[in-house]
Amino acid sequence: MRKNVETLNLFINGEFVPAVSGKTREIECPADREVHTHASEAGTEDVANAIASARAEFDSGEWPRKTVGERADILRRIADRLVADKAEIARHESLDTGKTFAESEGDVDDVVSVFRHYANMASASGGRVVETSNPGISSRIVHEPVGVCALIAPWNYPLLQISWKVAPALLMGNTIIMKPSELTPRTTYDLTKIMVEEGVSPNAVQLILGDGGVVGPAMTESEDVDMVSFTGGLATGSSIMASSAGTVKRVTLELGGKNPNVVFADADMEAAIDNALTAIFLDSGQVCSAGARLVVEESIHDEVVDELVRRAKNIRMGGPFDEKSETGPLISAQHRDKVHTYVQHAVEQGAKLLVGGEIPGGELANGYYYPPTILDGCDRSMDCVHDESFGPVLTVETFTGETDEEKERNALEIANDTVYGLAGAVWTSDVSRAERVARGLRHGTIWINDYHPYVAQAEWGGMKRSGNGRELGLMGLDEYVEVKHIWHNTQPQPAGWFDA
Ligand code: NAD
Repeated sequence: MRKNVETLNLFINGEFVPAVSGKTREIECPADREVHTHASEAGTEDVANAIASARAEFDSGEWPRKTVGERADILRRIADRLVADKAEIARHESLDTGKTFAESEGDVDDVVSVFRHYANMASASGGRVVETSNPGISSRIVHEPVGVCALIAPWNYPLLQISWKVAPALLMGNTIIMKPSELTPRTTYDLTKIMVEEGVSPNAVQLILGDGGVVGPAMTESEDVDMVSFTGGLATGSSIMASSAGTVKRVTLELGGKNPNVVFADADMEAAIDNALTAIFLDSGQVCSAGARLVVEESIHDEVVDELVRRAKNIRMGGPFDEKSETGPLISAQHRDKVHTYVQHAVEQGAKLLVGGEIPGGELANGYYYPPTILDGCDRSMDCVHDESFGPVLTVETFTGETDEEKERNALEIANDTVYGLAGAVWTSDVSRAERVARGLRHGTIWINDYHPYVAQAEWGGMKRSGNGRELGLMGLDEYVEVKHIWHNTQPQPAGWFDA
């Protein structure tokens, strides 16, 4: 165990407090299993206290009553603090997740741009005048906050995912209850401190740490929570939707993906192959938009797959602070075992294991590492093609056709045959084909001749069972807005409908 293990408290009613039960949880680094932090483990009583505080702040506190400009200034200050504290925050993110320090630094940069993006949207957050052609009538749409928002995040991008929710929610004057994954609480704790120090009203922000199965329903079922914004797995999202139904609260869901990366024979091969590696092996495949399904034209299958295998063998796994590491461990023993079982099952169903597929020994045995793995000869009858492994596992499927039209149709049929619809890519040098296939893919983000980049200015989210609603962009703000129509008659007259 590392020395000086710090205990993270909850943040409720304007102060950092231990859980009512006094319970804590050990947080370990998945790269070496060393416990580096203890986190207070909230129960339902802590959640009730947090909800009561957030409710009171929303109903009669100062945060919703500040001007949007004042709140935008505070978001800018938060962004500046994140820049100043970047190294420390990135270190914490890497300790919790095991991801490389460089990746964590990149995540902090992205978070800064999210806070700045929403600060800049202050001027777009207003309503509009509705023309009625009635003299003496002022009819207008005003935008107001939704209320108390429970913001629930996963472990793969802890700070990033919570920030996509926090920044727009706060800009609009909502009060928030943040619930990071129980595996990765540290950077949401850091963000809480920064937010309060930079001017967010203390009661506008609550931090609940702990087991989602315990504290989650206490939030989603509560009459005093107006909205749940959730990022995580499909099964959890579905249960959140069900448990929110009793109070008909607003629910937005960012769920999993099984994302196709479609490569045509006329693509720039070097770029397509290099990006196919990044698509799936970045962050060891623990990315919701990972390009886990390679859908490649049959005529170039061998060329592409041979090169992917050669390069996958050379990917360097290692701890977050080893500068030679290109990718880190999986988040937990449980998750690594799930990924391994998934690979074994794929082989039983007829997939051909070309590389990876074995839990590494030696120094890597101290952490939850799993090697870049490629499964060839896959088809849509196999579970590995349908289910999200959320690990470094690439499945390979091929398409062909007599004509260009047939090839595109076949590629699209394969790529769209999934219950998910989060992201996908198409690689081709034919501009018309690129546009046709991009429009044909039923996924929320499509890259043409690229993979993974996103910007805070563009909406992110899934079709089908990848979720509902959108984060980022313009719609990412709308999720946290109530729309109210105000009809103001400045020259009131009797209506004259009833005689008596
Ligand atoms: P998860 O569903 O297990 O947990 C996510 C969060 O929900 C955690 O904070 C957890 O404690 C909480 N939770 C668990 N049970 C709950 C309940 N009953 N009520 C309320 N909250 C509950 O997901 P995970 O394993 O942390 O994350 C991986 C998943 O997240 C993958 O499926 C991935 O694709 C998805 N993801 C999606 C996006 C996106 O943008 N669409 C981004 C990142 C991750």
